[in-house]
Amino acid sequence: MRTNLLAGFLIVMALGFSSDSVSAQSRSAVAEAQRITGDRFSFSSRTPNGANIYSVKRPSAAMLSAIDKGLSDLFAVARKNGYSRNLSYSAYTVFIANADRDRNSAGQYSPDIAVGAAQYAGTDYDQGGYIYAAGMVVSFSPMTFVIAEHTKEFNRVSDVVRFEGEHLVLYYNDRRRYSETADHSRGGGHPILQ
Ligand SMILES: [Zn+2]
Repeated sequence: MRTNLLAGFLIVMALGFSSDSVSAQSRSAVAEAQRITGDRFSFSSRTPNGANIYSVKRPSAAMLSAIDKGLSDLFAVARKNGYSRNLSYSAYTVFIANADRDRNSAGQYSPDIAVGAAQYAGTDYDQGGYIYAAGMVVSFSPMTFVIAEHTKEFNRVSDVVRFEGEHLVLYYNDRRRYSETADHSRGGGHPILQ
């Protein structure tokens, strides 16, 4: 009896996984975000406008509305540039990671995440095998990026959301411009869209 119950449970699990590739992609994005940051994203929620959030702690209302503001700014500047694809809040997923530093080298409030240096090795960004980043794209399908938790100066959160979102908007709307602007070690930064 006990064996039969277990077998039934495993079959349901297997069907659940194979019939839902969207959520499989989400799970692999969560795994990638955890690999990049070393954090565990135990909380999932949504912003008031419907963007998807994974976070280490329960996110503050100020963080959530700052993320919506950043996406609103992104969609406005994207439309101004003639782009129309994937401009909906629910298409975006934001990971809120623990900050690996609170201040930049100039002493200003700047919650950032430390990530492997990769193509930035040997550049001015390189801190010895890693760089500090305000945000980073994690995956394109689904569209996800990671930012650091802020406890104040939430306008910076909106800016980082808008800036990381620029890479995703360009990827789906203007692949050539995406390629030209994706790698900041070759020069250029944000905002890309004016
Ligand atoms: Zn960037």
